[in-house]
Amino acid sequence: MAFAPVNTILDRIQAQEKWRQGRLWFLVVRYWGEAVGALVAPHTRPTGIHRQVLQVAVSSGVWAQNLTFARRSILQKLHLLMADQLTEANPIVDIHFSTARWEKVSPSPAVNKRQTKTIKELPQSPQEAIDRCMTSLQQKKWQYRCPQCGAPASALEIDRWQMCRYCASRHLLSQK
Ligand SMILES: [Zn+2]
Repeated sequence: MAFAPVNTILDRIQAQEKWRQGRLWFLVVRYWGEAVGALVAPHTRPTGIHRQVLQVAVSSGVWAQNLTFARRSILQKLHLLMADQLTEANPIVDIHFSTARWEKVSPSPAVNKRQTKTIKELPQSPQEAIDRCMTSLQQKKWQYRCPQCGAPASALEIDRWQMCRYCASRHLLSQK
């Protein structure tokens, strides 16, 4: 009898941890494509999270190498996209890219080829695709305009307040 409460607590902690991990994985899968962009996404598949390191299968060694160089920016963007729905700040500390699991998770080559053809102006090299991805990451940060003052605003600000941070703080202060 004396051990029953301890077991119950451990069960509950384990259940909570499982729920937290499941939720994090759901968010990663949901936002991964947006974090790396449409040109890079078809060459990558998140396969799991191991000790706070996101595991991503990639189609070739060149992709693995280039994405490894860009992983800090990708991770930052991913955390930004998930920020509002996370229970803890920055739960993933790094990303590991590997070709090892690609065969197992990728769709048939025929499907891949068809998808690739629909993208116009295909990048000539993985490096070019990464450059484009980085450029779009930088542009996306201020892609909106504040409807109140017309200043550039981030998606996060528009999503949260429907205006830029300066107008939002002015708005909040005027309500007091
Ligand atoms: Zn504004």
